[in-house]
Formats: sequence, structure tokens, C-alpha cells
Amino acid sequence: MQRKFWLIFVLCLIMPLAQPVLASSVAPPVAADAPALADNSAWTAHTVRLGEQMSCLASRSGLDLPTLAAANRVLNPTLVRAGQILNLPPSESLSLAAVHASETLLTFAVRRGLSLWEVRRLNSGPWYTGKTVRFPGAAMETCLPYPLTAFAVSPQPVIRGRTAMFSFETTEPAACEITYLGQTEPCYPLDDAHLYALVGLSALIDPGTYRVKVTVQADGLETAFSVPLEVGAGRYGYQYINPPASLSKLMDPDLMQGELDYLATWRAIRTPERLWELPLAFPLPVKVSVSANYGDRRSYGGMVKGYHSGVDYRAWGGMRVLAPADGVVVLAERLEARGNAVLIDHGGGLMTGYWHLSRIDVEVGQHVKRGEAFALVGNTGLSTGAHLHWEMWVNGVSVDSSQWLSADAFPGLQLP
Ligand SMILES: [Zn+2]
Repeated sequence: MQRKFWLIFVLCLIMPLAQPVLASSVAPPVAADAPALADNSAWTAHTVRLGEQMSCLASRSGLDLPTLAAANRVLNPTLVRAGQILNLPPSESLSLAAVHASETLLTFAVRRGLSLWEVRRLNSGPWYTGKTVRFPGAAMETCLPYPLTAFAVSPQPVIRGRTAMFSFETTEPAACEITYLGQTEPCYPLDDAHLYALVGLSALIDPGTYRVKVTVQADGLETAFSVPLEVGAGRYGYQYINPPASLSKLMDPDLMQGELDYLATWRAIRTPERLWELPLAFPLPVKVSVSANYGDRRSYGGMVKGYHSGVDYRAWGGMRVLAPADGVVVLAERLEARGNAVLIDHGGGLMTGYWHLSRIDVEVGQHVKRGEAFALVGNTGLSTGAHLHWEMWVNGVSVDSSQWLSADAFPGLQLP
């Protein structure tokens, strides 16, 4: 029975158990004895939206930040979170804008058709690049940092091992980057007013709340803020696999690590142009079943421990392997453990890999179209039967590709 078990679960590549050191967020501290303002009876409740900053809310309300924070008994204004209720003065129908590089009070007013005197009346203190200026106009729906007009994260919570997408809408062309779990990744433009960024999460991180730092640059100004990312545990199985003697030389931890180190070069590739579209196409011509899911913890005879870094499909030898999206082949060669391997860069932070192939029909640098056959399923490398191991990297992290086959991979977000 034991022997039959490992034959069913085809041996394939696993990821090491090393876990990054993570910084969990903490709930915003509340000042127990902060004085309440005497004249705030007309104030109304405002529910903080994702990415909104208390400094912006204070500025729009015509208050300084310490005053608003004290009135709401908030000890650390930088840690207000989405869903938190703050009391704010009645809206004065004021808009906010940041002062651009080399923009004077006069050019600011003229550009918006405002009275110089009115802008000065509403904004005391020195004039400088980056200063948040209040001026008469329709009150903004959200109080996001300049130049954002909309911001969302999906899915929330996201299961570890899966991908979260950050979506940005801006008033003018902008660039941004996000920092999470020790890595900083670029945002990718969709058009002049929309950007997105991807967070690929390892199946091994602890569930909980992480903080993601967002940095946005536009018109010579840079703003940074942080938002929480809720990560759920998901359900992952455990497999104990007893490898046959003929394959045990490939179970050498040094060999496994060496191949992992070798692939680090490809994990670092970031191509700005996005070639993929959602949902991705299935990588095989027929819908075959899954023999091993992504994320299952594995132990090979106690020699190597880790988790399954891809999805194994019960495909038969010689079946054509199809590109799930347009892309460029960046690796096509024989590796010891992964066997005949192909990596396709789809741009915009997404790469897919195909291991244990019997034949490779593409070369490095070659473009493939969505649905195009580029290799045949096989049983090469650390494998005991023909199958397709489908790997997916999001910003270099192995994630569950099955999410990307769903039309609803990122609920609530629209990619043009
Ligand atoms: Zn596999």
C-alpha cells in the first residue's frame, strides 16, 4: 500500500521550508485619557476607507492633525485602518491638491480658476512643494494620498500561497511600488490613469495581518502610506513519500538547493509589458485531473522537506503543453531534478514554468501565443510517471496557478 501510494503521487519538486521574517501589524493604539473637543457636537461619523490617511482627513476638515487625533482619541494617527470610525466636522465642500514642483501660489490659483486671496485664506503657513492645499470645490469622495482617486486590494483576505492584486486609479500619470515581506516590487501601468501591482504569497507564511507599504510618484512628488493585507491559512495537505532507490540520488538536498539557486536568476526577471489576460488558458488541450495540488507539505523519506511548489496534472506522455497566455520563453533546457524545463515570461510580474517534459519545441527568446503548443508532457528528472508539473511565479514567488484560471481570480477588480 505504501509503495502504491508514492506511485500515485508523482514525485516532483518541492520548495525549502525556510520562512521569511514577517512583520505583523498591530491595532492602532488609542489614548485613554485624550481630551475631547468641546465644540464637536455637529461632527459626523466617517468610516475610514482603505488607504485613507488621517492627515488628509484633517486637512480637508480644516483642522491640524493633532487636534483631529485628540478629538478621536487616536494615539498614533499613522495607524488608522480601513473600517475605523472617526468623527469629522461637517464637510465644507473643499478639495485638496498637492503643490507640484516649482508651482507658486499664483500659478496654483490661476490653473484652477481660483481667487488668490481665497487660496491664501484657506491655507496658512509656508508654501512648499508637496504641501497639501485646500481650495473651494466638490468635496472628494475619498481622502487618498495624492494623486490617487481610487485604490483597492483583492481578494481580501487572501489565502497564503495565492496572489493579491493592488489596483490604483490616479488623476495623472504616476509610478508606484509596493513593499511587502522584505521585497519591493514595481506597479505596472494599465493606461494613463490606472496601475496595478501583484503580491505573490508563499504557502509557508504565517496567516495574519501584514502591512504593505505603497509609494506613489507623480509630477515630482512622492507619497508613501501603508495598508493592511489579511492573509488566511487555507487548507493544505501533507504527503509522506518514500522514494525508490533509483531516484534517491536526486533527493540530495545539495542538488535540490543548487537547482533552486540556479533558478534565482529567472525569479528576478521583471518585464514591464503585460502580455497576459485573465483568466489564463488551461495549459493542456484536454481537462485532465490534478494528481497533486499546490502547497501540500511533503517529506521524501525524511530526506527533503518542503511544499509542492506547483500543480501536477495527470497528463499522459506526449500530450501537447499549451501556453496559458502570450509570453516570451526565457528558459528551455534540461535540469537534473526538474528534467526538461521551460519558463515563459508573461510580463507584468507573471511567469509560468513547465517541468518533466519529454520534448521542448521552443528556444530562449521565442514568443509564444496564448494556446500555442510549445512542448510535450514527459517523465524526465525527479518524476516516477508522466505528468505535467505547472509552476507559477508572481514576482518570483511560487504561487497557486489554479487561482489564475478562474474568471473571478480578483473579485471586484477590472483589468482592461
Ligand atoms: Zn509537481
